[in-house]
Amino acid sequence: MEQKRIYLSSPTMHGEELSYINEAFDTNWVAPLGPNVNEFEKELCSYVGGGYAAALASGTAAIHLALILAGVGRDDIVFGTSMTFSATVNPIVYVGGHPVFIDSEEDTWNMDPEALKKAFAKYPDVKAVIAANLYGTPAKLDEIRDICKEHGVPFIEDAAESLGSRYKGIQTGNFGDYGIFSFNGNKIITTSGGGMLFCRDEEPIKKARFYATQAREPERHYEHKEIGYNYRMSNVVAGIGRGQLKHLDEHVSLKRDIYRTFKEAFSDIPEIKMNPYLECSEPNFWLSCMTIDEDCSVKPLDVMLALEKENIETRPIWKPMHMQPVYKGTDMILSGDECVCERIFKTGLCLPSDIKNTPEDMERIISIIRKLFHA
Ligand SMILES: *Cc1c(COP(=O)(O)O)cnc(C)c1O
Repeated sequence: MEQKRIYLSSPTMHGEELSYINEAFDTNWVAPLGPNVNEFEKELCSYVGGGYAAALASGTAAIHLALILAGVGRDDIVFGTSMTFSATVNPIVYVGGHPVFIDSEEDTWNMDPEALKKAFAKYPDVKAVIAANLYGTPAKLDEIRDICKEHGVPFIEDAAESLGSRYKGIQTGNFGDYGIFSFNGNKIITTSGGGMLFCRDEEPIKKARFYATQAREPERHYEHKEIGYNYRMSNVVAGIGRGQLKHLDEHVSLKRDIYRTFKEAFSDIPEIKMNPYLECSEPNFWLSCMTIDEDCSVKPLDVMLALEKENIETRPIWKPMHMQPVYKGTDMILSGDECVCERIFKTGLCLPSDIKNTPEDMERIISIIRKLFHA
């Protein structure tokens, strides 16, 4: 008989989601917008600590609108993290801009502030900076924010993977001029698909809601002075989000347990290191990752294949954008001689981090990996 499938990170529903959906159906508020959307926005803001938010169809849509609000247009340069999911940087191209990629540092795997400084020196006319908190680990957010402030350039914080993470006690998403969240299928909470644009000020969020509903002017007829988008979240989807948000802290706590269990289990294998984070941060541990020392005979692919054979899902580290065929020829800024993110990509992998994993599941994963290392 085939072994039980263990997932990387699959949706975890709790039942409350359905009550909000039922309410939407009972009141026939199935149409776009409605009370769940307004409440989901408010509840998310209260979770991350004030501010304003626009519920959207996806995290990608939130990044696209953040770039428009930041005034990025044709032929503008935008700095973006190289090692991230493509959705962090693709919207730069949607608005006709040109990305310049920035390397990662070792301490959090996120945008290297030293490389960012070098990028500013090389491209003083840059229009915006977008940096992600990879796998839920906060970047060096104060430093990145300060460098952007010093140059008067808006910072977009891609917190798609880091909802529930804290940096110096403050929720991620708060550090940029704009913060973005995602509720895609495998994120820490999910609405099946959706996103949120977050800002400390209300005006940009009002503008985002306007762009997200086809840029319709307040007239009786349909009057348009600008190009709009159909990017709003539906009232049914927002109902799932309201139910999920109630369980976010519980999800974070279970993810943290998974990370600690892996860390403890591999602590006697010197070639294995878990993904690092800063002392001053509390990641949500969305995905637990590890790297294997380069000179070790066991390679990340060996681990992935051994687990795959046992019906256990893993994933390589995000392949950096400067290595992607679609971004061939795009400039890449390093702080020193070595490309740090290329090394992390080659030596790392994402471990199964599903919060429905049982202690027995964790034991199964760990023993397969330990065996490879003869531990
Ligand atoms: C998931 C993700 C996004 C995009 O969010 P969607 O809701 O899937 O559009 C953007 N950036 C990062 C880093 C992500 O992981």
